Amino acid sequence: MPLVKAIYPGTFDPITNGHLDILSRAAQLFEEVQVVVAVNVRKHTLFTLDERLTLIRECTGHLGNVHVSSFQGLTVDCLRIFGAKVVIRGLRAVSDFEYEFQMALMNKKMDAGCETVHLMPSEQYTYLNSSVIREIATLGGSVAEFVPHNVETALRVKLGAPTFGGPKVGAPKASP
Ligand code: ADP
Repeated sequence: MPLVKAIYPGTFDPITNGHLDILSRAAQLFEEVQVVVAVNVRKHTLFTLDERLTLIRECTGHLGNVHVSSFQGLTVDCLRIFGAKVVIRGLRAVSDFEYEFQMALMNKKMDAGCETVHLMPSEQYTYLNSSVIREIATLGGSVAEFVPHNVETALRVKLGAPTFGGPKVGAPKASP
């Protein structure tokens, strides 16, 4: 079986344990995995590109064949630049399927050599995505079991939530 390189593109705003689950599976299947943080100037993100890159590098240091960089442009161009053949994507639920199916077919249309491999995470991560994490953290909830420790700290710093992990002081209480 040929050893091939793969890319794992995404926004990673921020990286979660779901992303890490997919990444550690991919790292065992491919010779090298390049995590590619998409540069999308029209998409507002909580973390800057540099912050997202740093957070990913910090929590993937133990995966020797995983590298992290950014890219602006088409996924098929990204594949070519990194000398990769495979695009890794996560597939959580039926709701992911339609979009992922469309992207995989469109990429194949643009570059017949592009193969997309969809990996399913462990059951415990199937409901997890970055926007839910941002939402919970913004509202002062604990995200400790969903993200690596460095991301939890970064969220705390970014959101300046002094009551992180509990309801905000002065927040309206639920009526009885
Ligand atoms: P994008 O904006 O490209 O969807 P994301 O950072 O949200 O970027 O996701 C990048 C990839 O990681 C996507 O393939 C997505 O399906 C996958 N992914 C995100 N969260 C999870 C999770 N909890 N389990 C498995 N895959 C996930």
